[in-house]
Amino acid sequence: MHLIESTRAVTRWITRIIPVFLVAAVSYATYAVVGRVCSSYLIGKRGEVGTAIVILILYFILLLLMVGTYFRTILTVLIDPGVVPYGPGAVERKKAARDRRRRRRQEPDLESLPYYAGPDMNPDSPGLEEFYTKDVFVCENDGRPKWCSECSTWKADRVHHSSEIDRCVYRMDHYCPWVGGMIGENSFKFFVQFTTYTACYCGLVLGATASSLRKEISEGSPLDPHFIPTIVLAAFFGLFTFLMSVTSLRYIFYNMTNVDMIGYQSKVYQLAVRVPRGTMPTDRFTIVTYPLPRGDEDANGWSNGAARTRANESGSSPVQIRPSARDELATRTFAILRTEPGENPWDIGIWGNWKSVMGTNIIDWILPFRRSPCANHEGHESFYPLGPVLRDILVRYNLDELAMKEDLGLEMREIARGNRA
Ligand SMILES: [Zn+2]
Repeated sequence: MHLIESTRAVTRWITRIIPVFLVAAVSYATYAVVGRVCSSYLIGKRGEVGTAIVILILYFILLLLMVGTYFRTILTVLIDPGVVPYGPGAVERKKAARDRRRRRRQEPDLESLPYYAGPDMNPDSPGLEEFYTKDVFVCENDGRPKWCSECSTWKADRVHHSSEIDRCVYRMDHYCPWVGGMIGENSFKFFVQFTTYTACYCGLVLGATASSLRKEISEGSPLDPHFIPTIVLAAFFGLFTFLMSVTSLRYIFYNMTNVDMIGYQSKVYQLAVRVPRGTMPTDRFTIVTYPLPRGDEDANGWSNGAARTRANESGSSPVQIRPSARDELATRTFAILRTEPGENPWDIGIWGNWKSVMGTNIIDWILPFRRSPCANHEGHESFYPLGPVLRDILVRYNLDELAMKEDLGLEMREIARGNRA
């Protein structure tokens, strides 16, 4: 089994030491709450059996939920954090790098594989079809999807490359040393459950211990030496995980990630939005038609806009071949449109955003069994459901009107209808 860990040795060591430290902290807290607070002080000294039982029940429920979500998060980030498979170029390059390391000697530069950082310009590039069979995807100026030169793959919407694990991650959030891996689409729900339960757990430990300490002080009886260190530990972890939970819950409600948040007020997304065949580019947007033209097809007029410019750059001689009517029917035309700064096309409303990450029922929300529905990528229209922003964009580019026309608008109306639903 291949584990997905940090590429940095120091980080890998830190992530192995942290669980030992956490087990020690939780063991100590258990001793303090069960042995000192409940058994020794509340039952032994004050005879408050009922209070002690309530604290113990709550304590072990929260402990179980915290430990369960912790292990679920660790397993997910190590085994299946939601990464994009390497493209053929990256597989070759990484294998060569491994072989070089194995041989433990310096290779002359001439022998290393040529490294081409730009996207695969082959019109039939593997994986490209997955984009243009959708109705909307994030694209570059030439209408192609974004490209990861490290992984040699096309990047789906909201995929980001993590240099920490050297992989492209779906809906990447952040690298978390506490759970030893990358928090992304598959693990975010479990991570939020873990931080929330840990905050509640720390709150209980803090409350039970601090109130016992307060009673001891008011009684004038000797202070238990374990109470102060327990309060300090619980306050530290409690505050940390509480802030983490609040931030993460906010991201869930707004359908954002830590990566999306970076400069979000000025962030502009460029989307390829499917339009009726024959839509012409305007001075406000360009058009790209898929499948992209091969070298011998670029002058026949069934592709235009940015993609055709690129094909011309390849320098092939234009040959006048009219594609068959059947081929023409299989083409899909996209307008390249931009959001306004700060718009989030994936915001489908607070309730929709919540369900897309946390699941559809209360069992999903509280227990770490099923992963987020958004990780299933069930939609045919786009990699993630799109919200009202898409409709705003269409209206802004006057494409909404186009959608209503009888003869042209079938595909557009489908997009608009799906968006409204
Ligand atoms: Zn990558």
